[in-house]
Amino acid sequence: MMIIASNWKMNLDRLSAEQLLAEMGSCPVSDKVSRIVFPSFTLIDLARTTRDHIGQTVHITLGGQDCHDAASGAHTGDVSAAMLVEAGCQWVLVGHSERRQNHMEHSEKVAAKTKAAQAEGLSVMLCVGENLEERESGKAEATVTAMLAASLPQQVDADKLAIAYEPLWAIGTGMTATPSDVAAMHQAIHNYLKDLGLKDVPVLYGGSVNPDNASALLALEQVDGVLVGGASLDADSINAITLAAEN
Ligand code: PEP
Repeated sequence: MMIIASNWKMNLDRLSAEQLLAEMGSCPVSDKVSRIVFPSFTLIDLARTTRDHIGQTVHITLGGQDCHDAASGAHTGDVSAAMLVEAGCQWVLVGHSERRQNHMEHSEKVAAKTKAAQAEGLSVMLCVGENLEERESGKAEATVTAMLAASLPQQVDADKLAIAYEPLWAIGTGMTATPSDVAAMHQAIHNYLKDLGLKDVPVLYGGSVNPDNASALLALEQVDGVLVGGASLDADSINAITLAAEN
């Protein structure tokens, strides 16, 4: 099973979100491919209605871009995992580098969010990645496995988990990790998860994925899908990436 995940970030208005989903719905997918869309909170309901109108067979599930680790309470501006479930989400993205950087979210917080989300029945897409300095000094694998170790709660449900490896220097920059670097990092992540007894956890690559580089990345046996930011906002691009996963 290949996962093609769209991270819309803080983009799209209601009309463009509806049109994009409709065009995604016109791209046929087999059972081999599963699509996840992470809209902004205010677009989740519209995305669900539009997806249901197209039909469940389009294999599009929805996710929130973040959630709070508390079940409820005085957390102005935050959204709980239960609220995402009620809005129709099956997934939540946690630990995205933009949250880690812009909202000072440390791995311990990411672990708490993962625990809270799984407790509500959500599947978690947990993001990890090294910065350029860590990559250039040969510390990429050590950084990523340490980040992963700190971001996983004590008891984690492997059936409700996916890891997105997103090197920081590749996000939104047009720079992509080479297939051999991606293969090596994904292997390290798979090995680490296996050592923890976490079996069959998909590991996705993210960072400037586009229709030109998607096939080479998706062809790697260590890669179980891609998390797409910028290119996910364009129907032709995300459909081309989806079709690359089919082949
Ligand atoms: C992301 O932020 O999750 C991402 C992968 O972005 P982009 O594809 O734009 O690099």
